[in-house]
Amino acid sequence: MKFIADGMLGKLTRWLRMLGQDVKYSNKLDDAALLYIAKKERRVLLTRDLELYQRAIAKGIDAFYVEGKTEAERLSTLARRFNTPVVIDLKNSRCPLCNTKLRSARKEELADKVEKNTFTYYNDFWKCPKCGQIYWQGAHWERIRATLEEAEVNLKKSLGT
Ligand SMILES: [Zn+2]
Repeated sequence: MKFIADGMLGKLTRWLRMLGQDVKYSNKLDDAALLYIAKKERRVLLTRDLELYQRAIAKGIDAFYVEGKTEAERLSTLARRFNTPVVIDLKNSRCPLCNTKLRSARKEELADKVEKNTFTYYNDFWKCPKCGQIYWQGAHWERIRATLEEAEVNLKKSLGT
């Protein structure tokens, strides 16, 4: 399953990439370009624009109208519709910035690339082979986990389990 997200869904794009989904995104793509790429690359168009959603459906392009106020709500509706995960496994994650699959990084290589405290306290690091961004499950991870737990609760409720 591959996606393309409209310009309003930058935040959702980053979440989905962390969850391992292949999501193309640029806020420079206009509606015609979104539709063209969705069709050509067989990507599901994710959009907050009802008119664009209807245009896609009329052209036989798979599209999903994203509702929900919070990221947790959006992630659970996507999980329900597309069976996308709501748990991050960094082995499958893509770079939130550029959509490239992350690779685990050897700690020794990062001594001069992350702050000293980070280097001291954490042992598992991932790196984007394309843009070079480095990731680890730092203090911010609690918030990420809380959002995903909320998404999981929403999902279970909507499935009646
Ligand atoms: Zn990257």
